[in-house]
Amino acid sequence: MSAEVKKPDLAASRTALEKELLAKYGEGQRDRLARGLNQVVQFWRAGDGDAKAFEEFVRANFAGDAATLDALFTRMEFAMESLDGHMVEINRDFRMQSDLDRGPIYPFDETLAGFDPSAHVNDDFFANKLAFVVLLNFPLTTLEQRLAEGEGWSRRQWAEARLAQRYSKRIPADVNLAIAKAASESAQYIAQYNVWMHHLVDERENRLFPPKMRLLSHWNLRDEIKADYGDTASGLAKQRAIQKVMERIVTQTIPKAVIDNPNVDWNPFTNEVRPAAEKDSDAPPPATSAVAATKPTNAPEPDTRYATLLADFQASRKADPYSPTAPTLIARRFDENRELPEARVRKMFEDVLTSPLVPRVAKLIEKRLGRPLEPFDVWYSGFKQRGKYSEAELDEIVRKKYPTPEAYKKDIPNILQKLGFSKEKAESVADNIVVHPARGSGHAFGAGKRGFKAYLRTRVEKEGMNYKAYNIAVHEMGHNVEQTFSLNDIDHTLLAGVPNTAFTEALAFVFQGHDLELLGLVKPDAKSKALATLNDFWGTFEIAGVALVDMGAWHWMYDHPNATAAQLKEATLGIARDVWNRYYAPVFGKRDVVLLGIYSHMIDSFLYLPDYPIGHMIGFQIERQMEKAGNIGSEFERMAKTGSVAPDLWMKKATGAPVGPEALLAAAAEALPELAK
Ligand SMILES: [Zn+2]
Repeated sequence: MSAEVKKPDLAASRTALEKELLAKYGEGQRDRLARGLNQVVQFWRAGDGDAKAFEEFVRANFAGDAATLDALFTRMEFAMESLDGHMVEINRDFRMQSDLDRGPIYPFDETLAGFDPSAHVNDDFFANKLAFVVLLNFPLTTLEQRLAEGEGWSRRQWAEARLAQRYSKRIPADVNLAIAKAASESAQYIAQYNVWMHHLVDERENRLFPPKMRLLSHWNLRDEIKADYGDTASGLAKQRAIQKVMERIVTQTIPKAVIDNPNVDWNPFTNEVRPAAEKDSDAPPPATSAVAATKPTNAPEPDTRYATLLADFQASRKADPYSPTAPTLIARRFDENRELPEARVRKMFEDVLTSPLVPRVAKLIEKRLGRPLEPFDVWYSGFKQRGKYSEAELDEIVRKKYPTPEAYKKDIPNILQKLGFSKEKAESVADNIVVHPARGSGHAFGAGKRGFKAYLRTRVEKEGMNYKAYNIAVHEMGHNVEQTFSLNDIDHTLLAGVPNTAFTEALAFVFQGHDLELLGLVKPDAKSKALATLNDFWGTFEIAGVALVDMGAWHWMYDHPNATAAQLKEATLGIARDVWNRYYAPVFGKRDVVLLGIYSHMIDSFLYLPDYPIGHMIGFQIERQMEKAGNIGSEFERMAKTGSVAPDLWMKKATGAPVGPEALLAAAAEALPELAK
């Protein structure tokens, strides 16, 4: 328990209050009252007042008749919408200089951008007891209840459940601080984990990679493997070398000296380290005396990867006692963030991993490669196809059409009509979207409050918008349209939004996937669609295993809370090998591979990886439904108006089936014969 948490004895007060208020409001309130008292007692601390203060609070704030309860609900819904909207507004305005293409960013701009106006809101509402008013009157629910009973709930009941969920935990400031510290330290550890590729050498001192190539683990390493499929001369050798580097990172046999260091050469196969024979970095070389003093050795990185993960775990579990309806990080991720039970998610992954389509797709990849699969082929990228138009041709078309952000903004009603929205809908939604020039690649900001606008930030170069920026703008616009329907056209603002991020991403990808048609260019043919489907299928097959390793590591840590970093390393390697041997070895013909443990998210993102395969599945479900209905616009609107109910309920309403891999598997099954033609 955190030092600041002391709890007063409220048992006698609770019993007396129950009797008193039942007499006042009648038997009909028995269950509500008992539940409300339990919920308040659960979170009440000595600092909130003594037993007398508790009694006075409950007497004053229990809404024991329907009229008072309605008034409370209406007031809270209105207040929360205002709070959310203004928090978004403050955040957006404080970040304006950092986010927009508007000249230099000064240090004070960074301070403004780093400010989080909502950081203390939860604490404030427990301090002024608004949170207790909600807890006294509305039900806290577990995921199990929301799934078992939620289908029968009214929209108002769902809105009440969402309102109460805002106060389902009261995490002390020192615990939140410890979690933030672990998150920032792990992010920093990952952010500097570069490998200088020109300094990878083989036995004959060959350098496979160009000077100055500096790859961040794991993203850039993985993407280089993908890119190397296009290099017929030395792609295979490069891929094998990167696989070896990844294995060294996962097993922590990587020499500490080679991490983010262009001053040494390294043979990842023999693990030999020497002073660099070539210089390719712009940084000044270390002083000769320093080199002499620290002759590079191949002493391994001392399990820092696993110490970092362990620190994430130790910080996360500090919050467990203050989160009664989701008392582990694992439960908070699955039951709260995703709202899909872990067991079902695991089953969904296994359905993909054990699908009879896997060996068929693997065979096809071997045929396309002209060689047996090697472990790094989990990142096979050869289903990605270059379109009919070159990037340069597309750039020219887009630049002409959209020379400025204003030109894009003006065209939004046309774009939306092409996607099947009525003229009237297209115009009203377009009215709600403000287009700004982005400093980065582009992003979307929802409104949070009705009457506020949604913001589309898109990158426009001096000579006009290029194709890549346009492609992203169409994606971000998908978010804006979802944000507009799911806030402005919904019955309860407490249900604004979508069940989780995978849903808004899936909706945005639907828009993005039609970008060429929107330019008046031909739509992808059946073959390129089949290729894109198999690309997604293979990507889901890969990331589902990675997610199982992430889940396995967190379970192991909860089962072994006192483990050392070295023990966690051994356990994680065991889990990675086990997942590989079970699902991948049969198609790759090689056992005990540890590659599935390479993802950096595992170290800095606190059990985030399962979101990726779930996202792929949701994407296919939504897309196939729109194809079936034959109209994107009306389906998009219908789906987005469902709001933030449980994912399975949303998906059943949208497609007739709960969240699952069936749509992805069906699409892949149709794609295979298409490619055999
Ligand atoms: Zn997105």
